[in-house]
Amino acid sequence: MKKAELLLPAGSLVKLKTAILYGADAVYAGTPDMSLRTQSKFSLEDLKEGIDFVHAHGKKIYLTLNLYIHNEEAAKLPMFVKTLQELKPDGVLVADPGVFYYLQQHAPELNRFVSTQANICSWQTVDFWQSMGAKLCVLGREVTFAEMKEIREKCPDVLLECFVHGAMCMSYSGRCLISNFMADRSANRGKCAHCCRWHYKLKVKMKDGTIKDLNITPENVQTLDFMLEEEFRPDEYYEIVEDEHGGYLLNSKDMCLMPRLNDILSIGMDSLKVEGRNKTEYYAGTVARAYRQAIDDYYRDPQSWNYEKYMDDLYSLQNRGYCLGFHDGKLTNISQNYEYTRTLGEWLFAGSIVEWQGDDAVFEIRNYINSGEFIDFLIPSSMENVRLVLDSFEDADSGEITTKVSAGEGKKIRIRPDRWKRPIAEIKRLLPQFVIARKYQGLKGDNAQMYARKKDEFDQLIEGCPAQE
Ligand code: SF4
Repeated sequence: MKKAELLLPAGSLVKLKTAILYGADAVYAGTPDMSLRTQSKFSLEDLKEGIDFVHAHGKKIYLTLNLYIHNEEAAKLPMFVKTLQELKPDGVLVADPGVFYYLQQHAPELNRFVSTQANICSWQTVDFWQSMGAKLCVLGREVTFAEMKEIREKCPDVLLECFVHGAMCMSYSGRCLISNFMADRSANRGKCAHCCRWHYKLKVKMKDGTIKDLNITPENVQTLDFMLEEEFRPDEYYEIVEDEHGGYLLNSKDMCLMPRLNDILSIGMDSLKVEGRNKTEYYAGTVARAYRQAIDDYYRDPQSWNYEKYMDDLYSLQNRGYCLGFHDGKLTNISQNYEYTRTLGEWLFAGSIVEWQGDDAVFEIRNYINSGEFIDFLIPSSMENVRLVLDSFEDADSGEITTKVSAGEGKKIRIRPDRWKRPIAEIKRLLPQFVIARKYQGLKGDNAQMYARKKDEFDQLIEGCPAQE
């Protein structure tokens, strides 16, 4: 069976290296000036180093050039394409037909991939792009599994990519003006401010024009519910729920297709994409490891494959609650999170091993750690972890000893070889440079309840709607 590629975002050089370490077959990255990924932290030098690193590990890297250009950007195209020709990525992700055509004319040696921004949702559209010379088409998140299967059958000779994990967009991917309207930042140009997830509060406009808060008191709160009624749906009410911050009308949960990964692998998708270029290297490493192990396990024994063993790791990440996107068909209201917009998770990114100095691990702190707390280091080659408990912390630069540490500008501690419970040679083999670690924080009160509810809702989605044939 042809093996699908696992594709991770590389929002920075460190994230790129972490993703590769934890099993990505390929990464995608952009450059700040022309790419849709305008918040990329890559300089040109970083990008060169990243490309060399990826290729030295026998993996691939794709660069994004997927904005819809205006004239001023058309003028920059020759310069940018020249840079791409020098960088020699394994593919260039494009959405705008003008850019696609320019590449065909001026850099035919570069593999042209059609980005998700082009909203490909049918085999007809894949057919079109293939006839134009596209090597790979990224299917829109809005494509259901039934549609994906038909596209695969009707378009067997072009590489197909689909999303498996990451944030969803309330709009048709990338076709949104909320962010322009609210924040003067265009989602269509890679600057989405995620305004759909902001808190919106209900206010009352009085007949004299003054705006007032609704005076909700402990006495009347139990007697009021707030409902929206759409003009053409009389008597159909949409409840608006508010907490102390506001309401979340448009807040989509995050996509997690781990429970349907076997569907996707069984039909021969070529590339499985993870969203999240702005997330941490902890996210990149954790997601890469879970999907790497799941993919490899599936190909070893498809019949006994089960998604459950990979979910604990995915739940260790901050998330808005998971949904299956459009995989099983149209979205249900369970795919929205009306209760909260923040991301919740029971674990925190503790830090990463940035360097081995002899047998000392230099560990960069990314969250406070108190003496006696356990830190789990994620072994890249398996779903196992190495647990470490430190009763004191030695500053990697000054040697100062403390009983707690907090994240600071590059704050690092030194972990001496005698702190581990296993031989140092084994530790160094299991935990190379860029290994990430997490610490347990747990959730309390409302957060714990809401989080548990979102997990139950995901279970309902997984069990309730088998994939449509
Ligand atoms: S603001 Fe929300 S709906 Fe609009 S593009 Fe961004 S994520 Fe999508």
